[in-house]
Amino acid sequence: MRVAVTGGAGYIGSHTVVELLEEGHEVLILDSFANAAPDVPDRITAIAGHAPRIVRVDITDAPALTAALQEFAPEAVLHFAGLKAVGEAVSNPLEYYRVNVTGSLVLLQAMQAAKCRRLVFSSSATVYGDPDQVPIPEDHPLRPTNPYGHSKRMIEQVIEDWGVANPEIAAVNLRYFNPVGAHASAQIGEAPSGTPNNLMPYVAQVAAGQRPRLSIFGDDYDTPDGTGVRDYIHVVDLAQAHLAALGLTATAPGVQAINVGTGRGYSVLEMVRAFEGASGKPVPFDIVARRPGDVATSLANPRRAADRLNWTASRDLDAMCEDAWRWQSYLLRKNS
Ligand code: NAD
Ligand code: UDP
Repeated sequence: MRVAVTGGAGYIGSHTVVELLEEGHEVLILDSFANAAPDVPDRITAIAGHAPRIVRVDITDAPALTAALQEFAPEAVLHFAGLKAVGEAVSNPLEYYRVNVTGSLVLLQAMQAAKCRRLVFSSSATVYGDPDQVPIPEDHPLRPTNPYGHSKRMIEQVIEDWGVANPEIAAVNLRYFNPVGAHASAQIGEAPSGTPNNLMPYVAQVAAGQRPRLSIFGDDYDTPDGTGVRDYIHVVDLAQAHLAALGLTATAPGVQAINVGTGRGYSVLEMVRAFEGASGKPVPFDIVARRPGDVATSLANPRRAADRLNWTASRDLDAMCEDAWRWQSYLLRKNS
């Protein structure tokens, strides 16, 4: 099948493109490379043994995006491109709405022009805000607490309305929980520029000696050890969930939201210990104040994914940490 992948050179997109190519799909990556290294396509090709096609394009550039989609004529689109840092979104909301919301509108219009009716969108558990219940089911109220989360909720709404007006549309809004790890080949992974916002890349940099200590944001939450609990999911499991969602769009018209998580939570301290075990390196830490906006526990109810996608995560915490460490070690060698 011909599949266009916006943001296909990024962290989650690149892992998904590998899985698509390995399954024999023809892939077009549409990416501005705003947050991706120029050699990612070569690395994808080295892993998968097939090359994706690449068009360097900004998703907010309607003429260029429309031309690229019309030329490739995809049967489906996986939409990863966007901005994702919560702190940046709070300080620069207009840019987040421009890229995420306007970019998505431009994409849907370009899909319409190219008569492409199947879509899988990268949404986020952040659309739930502070949850009333955990694990969180998809019908939990949506009340994001920051502009990044609002942008995801708005895009989901636009896709839902698009589906109502066009019954032939088949779309899946995948709500990711906490993607971590890297491809086992250590050829692709997450390479945050500047100080990492997320726990796992920060822990990896401390283990690698690139940062002296981890700050743990609070140990007085209502959780077993007082530190925040999250549903971490291996990025390759997440990539494979996209292929399952793509399959669902072939048979299920309409728009649906599906959580992508494991349903199993780990605390910050458990993550630190697991990473120390996988890397053989110490991860010194300080307990500091809570981070504003953080919730105690966020866990997916993964039942709908199992029922509708016939997909469950298979990689455990050790695999997440070992693969993240292999990738971090590669980055360390590359930059030394
Ligand atoms: P990423 O930054 O690694 O990937 C995004 C890709 O989109 C990059 O390759 C970047 O160059 C590209 N891009 C950015 N702006 C663009 C634009 N205007 N036009 C074209 N390309 C553009 O991020 P990621 O972690 O791979 O996330 C992918 C998607 O998943 C995002 O939509 C993100 O919001 C969502 N998501 C990520 C997480 C997470 O923890 N990583 C969690 C939930 C949801
Ligand atoms: N966290 C932490 N120190 C860090 C980064 C994160 O203690 O430097 C904690 C954070 O408070 C949360 C968990 O790690 O409990 C996961 O945070 P992350 O930012 O990775 O994901 P999110 O908060 O978006 O779920």
